[in-house]
Amino acid sequence: MQFIRIVGLSIFLTALFLFISLLFVSDYTLTKEIFETKVKVEHQERLLPQFEKIFDKNYSTTFAFANEIKNTVENVNAEARAQQQWDKVIYDDYVGSLTKASTQGIIVDHSLLLFLLIFVGGTVGALLFIFPKISLEKPGIKHNNIFHHALNNRGWIGILLGTLLILFYILLYFYDAYVTNWIILVEPLKKLINPTGDSSQWFLYGFLYTFAVIVMGIRMLIKYRHSNYQMVNYQMVRTGSVMFFQLAIAFLLPEILVRLNQPYFDFKNMWPLDYDFFDAWHINMLTASGGSVGLFMFVWGITLFVIGVPVFVYFFGKRWYCSWVCGCGGLAETAGDSFRQLSDKSLKAWKIERWLIHAVLIFAVVMTGAVLYNFMTGTNSIFGIDTYTYLRKPYGFFVGAIFSGVVGTGFYPLMGNRVWCRFGCPLAAYLGFVQRFKSRFRITTNGGQCISCGNCSTYCEMGIDVRWYAQRGQNIVRSSCVGCGVCSSVCPRGVLNLEVKEEDGRFGNPILIGNNGITLQQ
Ligand code: SF4
Ligand code: SF4
Repeated sequence: MQFIRIVGLSIFLTALFLFISLLFVSDYTLTKEIFETKVKVEHQERLLPQFEKIFDKNYSTTFAFANEIKNTVENVNAEARAQQQWDKVIYDDYVGSLTKASTQGIIVDHSLLLFLLIFVGGTVGALLFIFPKISLEKPGIKHNNIFHHALNNRGWIGILLGTLLILFYILLYFYDAYVTNWIILVEPLKKLINPTGDSSQWFLYGFLYTFAVIVMGIRMLIKYRHSNYQMVNYQMVRTGSVMFFQLAIAFLLPEILVRLNQPYFDFKNMWPLDYDFFDAWHINMLTASGGSVGLFMFVWGITLFVIGVPVFVYFFGKRWYCSWVCGCGGLAETAGDSFRQLSDKSLKAWKIERWLIHAVLIFAVVMTGAVLYNFMTGTNSIFGIDTYTYLRKPYGFFVGAIFSGVVGTGFYPLMGNRVWCRFGCPLAAYLGFVQRFKSRFRITTNGGQCISCGNCSTYCEMGIDVRWYAQRGQNIVRSSCVGCGVCSSVCPRGVLNLEVKEEDGRFGNPILIGNNGITLQQ
């Protein structure tokens, strides 16, 4: 069985190596035909004299080609700026579209074959590595040697993986032309779902994200298969749930909607996590050009955070979203499961968490309020402040790209799998408010049974010191708890239970001091 695992790992690493090396295999030639097809007619006259110099020239790397395109447009813009012809400045980004259209070589000729080799081969390899564990290990949730492994405890593998993830996000968000070969690689799948559509960096991202959730979700199902709680395997059901929501609702449904000439819409995403929901272009897309379906989407989006959040959190706790539905939570719970023990449990981290996450929520509310004000009044500023330059753009850059993407996922192997959910997600802050003050959810603790082993605190991805509560026999009603239930699953004494009961009794119950209970002063 170990041999099969080694073979599986080798296949997976080969597929990964092939995937990364694809970035360097194409060459690029811009022709006049491509220029005329991809560049807007109103820009062609201004750009043509400069672009003529690079027509039919061959570039051997995407970096050289993309930089040439960027510099060429920049030269034209610099001239316009020097002459103060502001209306002549071109803001359209042609780098990505021209790079994709000018790509030549194996990736264009054999994209389907390479897609199958990498993703089918990678899946087979991963499953060959994961499945034999079933017969190799005794029943139970295994975390053996986790703090001695270079992947799980910030060793060299973890640092390497974190670096690769951070690089991937930087390329994806800010230099998408450099990953053109990967965008072309997923083109066959895009055409299968929507024959008239073209793959983009966001389709690539959505696919890789879903791929990770599904493959690592299978690993999660196997790892927690013995975690029975009241006759139900909570971990398996909720893992199945995040896999379903990511694949069907977040990835496939929006693509199918576009194929049916409807607006692109993720029905499970909501403001303030979906921070461009109230952007003018988005409201217009849904209400003006989206027809009755678009209008329904707009109303659905508002209903979800105005009514859905308070009602569902009241009955089920924040977990209904963070651990069952959300894409960020889905990735954290599947691909990020190996890093949950890296969350910081210190009081200092808790303090930083509260300041940071609530600051992001306030930023999101202020930014959205300003954007909506502009939309309704037809202006661009509020109190003399340019909304896009000083609010919307910084939010998109710092929170939307850097915090949620680069840090939120890239730092999995360094700071744990819920960095974004714990420190940055404004929706988590909102859900947490409701969970803390108006919910039936709590984790009850049978303190007399606790042996203070600390498993629960160790594997709490939100950095909650669960043992501290367990030792005192105190309910856990922390706003940050995402209800993943892993603390309960790994407890060897059955101390912890995720429960929904009457609101009374969540706070102020007697706590344990030694063998005697005392009543908390209200
Ligand atoms: S306290 Fe338990 S259920 Fe809540 S986030 Fe931590 S491990 Fe998950
Ligand atoms: S895992 Fe269970 S026994 Fe161990 S410290 Fe936590 S509550 Fe106590």
